[in-house]
Amino acid sequence: MVDLNRVKTFVVVGAGTMGREIAQVALMSNLFERVILNDINENALITAKEYITKGLEKIESKGKLRQGLTSKSLINNLFTSKNLITSIKEADFIVEAIPEVMELKQDLFKELGEYAPEHAVLATNTSTMSISKIAEASNRPKQVIGMHFFTPIPLLRLIELIKGEKTSQEAFNIGIAIGQKLPALKGKRYIAKIEKESPGFIVNRLTIATSLLFNWILDMATDKGIPYEKIDNDFVSPPELGPLAKWDFLGLDVICDVMNYFVKEISPEFAPGKTLTNLLKEGNLGRKTGKGIYEWVEGKPNIKTSEKAGLFNSEQYYAIQLNEGCRLLEEGIVSGYKIIDDTMLAGMDMPGPFGAGKRNYEKWSLMLEELVKTTQINYFKPCEMMKSGAFLPLRK
Ligand code: NAD
Repeated sequence: MVDLNRVKTFVVVGAGTMGREIAQVALMSNLFERVILNDINENALITAKEYITKGLEKIESKGKLRQGLTSKSLINNLFTSKNLITSIKEADFIVEAIPEVMELKQDLFKELGEYAPEHAVLATNTSTMSISKIAEASNRPKQVIGMHFFTPIPLLRLIELIKGEKTSQEAFNIGIAIGQKLPALKGKRYIAKIEKESPGFIVNRLTIATSLLFNWILDMATDKGIPYEKIDNDFVSPPELGPLAKWDFLGLDVICDVMNYFVKEISPEFAPGKTLTNLLKEGNLGRKTGKGIYEWVEGKPNIKTSEKAGLFNSEQYYAIQLNEGCRLLEEGIVSGYKIIDDTMLAGMDMPGPFGAGKRNYEKWSLMLEELVKTTQINYFKPCEMMKSGAFLPLRK
């Protein structure tokens, strides 16, 4: 059993979209004497504190803070600082949430290795990158874990906990124990324990595989003048955000960073297409800049029709995910498919591919063969594990 009483100071480095929400759930757990939020940008710290205060007050007004806790008492435990060394000097547990750029993360982990207390566990919230490569820079790779959160963190249940090559079981166990104590409004936290790393872990590995299709669709729609919203409507009914609107929501720069990482690690076919590249060049990054694939007004995409293009269907989406899930089994990243489906449900709030894939894998394999012909993207080729149904007995 991990003794969490010894974890008194929880530090988050990077106070952007993710860091502020990680700090918020750390406060809500009421487990730590202090939560310290560090950023190189003073404005980010000010905005983050306002965001957390509002977030806590909203949850309090709905009566959903744990009994005996108030937003006021919790916010008193939050400290912000621009100075890294003073922020981490008493840290017991540190979560990094700075941009998804390997060199930046390695520079930071070098400093964490130099200045954090010897016993501190160092966690990275990277969405895709190698925990081992980040850990190497710290000079204490045993204490480094991947701790991948899903936004909105106060709501969604999933945390992916990932071991690097040298991560100790002790550091991993501390990560699991802390993760389980961070509250989520949708229910009990689900910690996906991933013992072997691979780009994108589980959720992003599966979703980025589907990005290959959307990247192709986006260029095809641009070339043929098909309204993007009709394509999104092939997959969902408004007001639910379709896959292209979700890209805008997350930020097209973030999507391109991740795709470019997959280019290096998995296949050159992941390269962002010309529509994405142009939008990025123009600085149209989606919701955060007010324009991306869509115009964004008051936090919502300007989608006017519920008409469909009638070119795609959500089965293709699940077929691609089933193929990628089977690749994870083939690569020994997971030993059974249940963890994949449970992880997708807890992180994306939608079913994983294996539930329906068990019945449809033969039909879906043929569908993927067709998709290879239509798109000329070879990565869609169904793997052996999927085609043969060899995954069927591998549940746990
Ligand atoms: P963001 O750009 O919103 O925030 C990053 C913050 O880090 C900024 O405030 C920036 O000033 C600060 N920063 C940069 N360098 C720093 C340094 N050396 N020290 C301290 N602060 C520094 O980014 P984000 O969306 O919060 O993403 C952070 C990490 O979380 C990335 O690795 C990303 O891949 C991952 N992630 C993002 C999401 C998402 O949906 N946005 C989901 C899961 C994981």
